[in-house]
Amino acid sequence: MTDALRRPLIAGNWKMHLSLAESAALAKAVKEGVAGAAAAPTSAPASPEVALFVPFTALTVVAQVLKDCPVKLGAQDVYWEAQGAFTGEVSAPQLVDAGCQMTLIGHSERRRLFGDTDEAVKKKLKAALAAGLTPVVCIGETLDERQAQRTFRVLETQMTALTGFSPADLSRLVIAYEPVWAIGTGQTATPAQAQDAHLFIRKTAAKLYGEGFASGLRILYGGSVKAENVDSLMAQPDLDGALVGGDSLKAASFIRIANFKAAAEAK
Ligand code: PEP
Repeated sequence: MTDALRRPLIAGNWKMHLSLAESAALAKAVKEGVAGAAAAPTSAPASPEVALFVPFTALTVVAQVLKDCPVKLGAQDVYWEAQGAFTGEVSAPQLVDAGCQMTLIGHSERRRLFGDTDEAVKKKLKAALAAGLTPVVCIGETLDERQAQRTFRVLETQMTALTGFSPADLSRLVIAYEPVWAIGTGQTATPAQAQDAHLFIRKTAAKLYGEGFASGLRILYGGSVKAENVDSLMAQPDLDGALVGGDSLKAASFIRIANFKAAAEAK
């Protein structure tokens, strides 16, 4: 992470875990553990922004814990309509009302288990932007796709969800590159593999919306990020943070990840 324009973002995806009491306790531990890092002014771009993506049911509880604190709150999904007869769905204005500033969109588990398509991702992205949320759009290839040398083609296709906007519309956009084979498997992409994919994503973003847009675009890496591998991943020039699943449920690990050592310190 070398570009001063891009403040790193370390985000925890709690998936479908934790009771309300456990959620409040973990949020409190994170808030206290990252207080220094997350509270730094934006004039100190090397210090990360920190966000927690929690289950819908825990949003208001965690919002209370994070009140008046710089750690951001996010949902794990959003529906594209604002209201109506859509049983089981939650809209972007409802997320804002519950205290969210961010939302994940198109996580690979949503794509694989619940049928989210690139078209659905685009509609969700549009709704999130309209409500003022910061969208974190997840993309990434499966193991079969990587082995068939189709990684870049898959990423390019998934990025069609980003077309039809303007650079200004997408000024808050964050992309998370999450190779599906690395999610929850303990098998992390090497720093070089992650850097290759991130550079490709940035170049594709430049083709869509220009170099200025692409150089300011934050691209997170996700897939078995841990305290032990975060420093070497974050030392790569096109990695601007991490989306952390399993280890975001362990306060000490997540806090260490959020306090990752920047390239110069890690040497
Ligand atoms: C994720 O769910 O987005 C993720 C990256 O999970 P894990 O860190 O457990 O691989």
